[in-house]
Amino acid sequence: LNDIDKKYLLDSIRDVKDFPKPGIVFKDITTLLNNKDAYKFLIDHLEQRYKSYDLDYIAGIDSRGFIFGAALADRLGIGFVPIRKVGKLPAATVCEKYELEYGFDQIEIHLDAFPKKDARVLVIDDLIATGGTANAAAKLVKDINANLVEMCFLIHLTFLDGAEKLKEHAPVYSVLEI
Ligand code: AMP
Repeated sequence: LNDIDKKYLLDSIRDVKDFPKPGIVFKDITTLLNNKDAYKFLIDHLEQRYKSYDLDYIAGIDSRGFIFGAALADRLGIGFVPIRKVGKLPAATVCEKYELEYGFDQIEIHLDAFPKKDARVLVIDDLIATGGTANAAAKLVKDINANLVEMCFLIHLTFLDGAEKLKEHAPVYSVLEI
């Protein structure tokens, strides 16, 4: 994307200061989603990028990764797999624990999430901050023997250097860097 395209997308995303707690600037993508032109523009771009990747599945991270991931999977004509916060998936799962600023969280994936052998998988989320969540998601995909082809984010908060953690797993693509 050129600078004008990036500015167009960036301007469609709202900053909410001090959410969910003081000092955090929350990148609110709901204003991109309810703008049919911006939402379509983004999914068009991702479709163009990934149509030649020969992907088998998109794995979206709970919960905003579902919104982009499911739309993209439909465009590419491939399956969608949810990576969820612990306790939400009904069948047998594998779980990864990861560190938050205060304490820990866990995400999980169904053991049989990728029925195709040696599945080629793209992991997607709205935003990468510390990279803790995405790092755990990458491990989950590998734990169940899929092939992690790339990790994709709409927004990369570069000052937190979260993408550094992911380099050992797969290439990282972010549409917008802040
Ligand atoms: P992290 O594990 O630190 O990379 O955090 C990534 C997850 O937290 C993503 O699922 C994001 O949706 C969410 N997140 C973290 N920081 C922000 C922020 N400033 N604005 C919006 N979402 C955020």
